[in-house]
Amino acid sequence: MSILLQNDTILHIGIDDTDSPKGMCTTFLSYKIVKFLERQKIEFVDFPSLIRFNPNIPWRTRGNGAVRLTIRTKNPKKIKNKITQFVTSYSDTKNGANPGLVFFQNKQIPVSFNKFSKLALCKLISRKHAKQFVSENNIESFYLGNGQGLVGAIGAIGYKFFDHTFELLCYRKKSQFGKKRRISKSSVKNMQSTTFPETFSSYDKESDRVLITPHGPDPVFYGIRGETIKAVVRASTLVNSDEKLDGYMIFKSNQGTGDHLNNELQVDELKPFNSGFLIGEVCNKPVIERGGHVFFSIKVKDRKIRCAVYKPTKITNVAQNLILGDKIHIGGGIRKASKNHGRILNVEFLRILRLTKNHLLVNPTCKNCNKKMKSKGYKQGFCCVKCGNRSTSKSTLEIPRKIQCKLYLPSVSAHRHLTRPYQRIKKRNRDAKFNTSIPWVHIF
Ligand SMILES: [Zn+2]
Repeated sequence: MSILLQNDTILHIGIDDTDSPKGMCTTFLSYKIVKFLERQKIEFVDFPSLIRFNPNIPWRTRGNGAVRLTIRTKNPKKIKNKITQFVTSYSDTKNGANPGLVFFQNKQIPVSFNKFSKLALCKLISRKHAKQFVSENNIESFYLGNGQGLVGAIGAIGYKFFDHTFELLCYRKKSQFGKKRRISKSSVKNMQSTTFPETFSSYDKESDRVLITPHGPDPVFYGIRGETIKAVVRASTLVNSDEKLDGYMIFKSNQGTGDHLNNELQVDELKPFNSGFLIGEVCNKPVIERGGHVFFSIKVKDRKIRCAVYKPTKITNVAQNLILGDKIHIGGGIRKASKNHGRILNVEFLRILRLTKNHLLVNPTCKNCNKKMKSKGYKQGFCCVKCGNRSTSKSTLEIPRKIQCKLYLPSVSAHRHLTRPYQRIKKRNRDAKFNTSIPWVHIF
């Protein structure tokens, strides 16, 4: 398998939207495809990649994740036919999946793919746009349903990592699909405390919740996110469950990189479902609305943008303590306008860059008696009732601020797949060399 001829082809495979809320999972289909590929005369040239795209688009499948596989093969035609069959047979089209599959045969990926991928990360891309891209560039592709999956399939091939993490996804046996997942909570807690920060977002101490198990009927038993292959494999040996599992596969991923919030939103053309960041000054006093959500506005280039911090993020107390003039850097997605409100930025992180002094005007204090003076009436000045001492104006009192110039993130339970957690703020993993010394796919 390792001695291959020069006329072998590098084949990039992009797959998206094979799942529905009722079942399947694009990563599991990829696991099945990889199991098939392992029996063929091919060579893997990179880890499988799990790319999360814009989490703020309305019709995303759970997590909006697409997969890329890159292999070297002598017989691309056969491989492509077989993979197309896999996608046809296993996509959950009955329950609304709109699978897309894209092949690209060349080592170098064209810039047009990279550009498309960047857009899919932060914007809403129509399937029409994807179909146009496919036909204009003469790209081999296949889709079922309405073809929405082409967006992620093209995007997955074009995604350029500037940082990455890994996720070890452990799959159930078919007979267990849909059944309750029984996992030892104490083993997950122990796994996190033993391997953190080499793994992340496994368990939420605050709410005593296990975060590695999904809740739906999909084939994933658990997923462990971490910085290296070694770390996620080690962590998986620390997690206990009585269920007999099928196997695992490790994906290189943009999860935990915050990549969807790296671009600055343009206030002149804020479109619904765009993701990115803004820097501005608070220009409206925060208000708490029904449900405990906090709303305020910031001013960016003379435009006023309404922002929302939702209760489950557990940072509403931070938003509530903002005052006029505070300079902040916020990231999130634009919510579509409705009958009751205009467009709103749903906040996914809040970094305070500058705090304004909170001055309160109060009646002056008498220097002789150390007592508060009384007002003599509108514009009449102030007077001490004890000694008659007079003053013409109020004095200012500085109220200490309850928030600091720093980054505030939602509670880990409210994180998106893409959310960059605190311990990864300064972390950047340079492109990991493809290394098979530790198996990245393993059947139990
Ligand atoms: Zn006095």
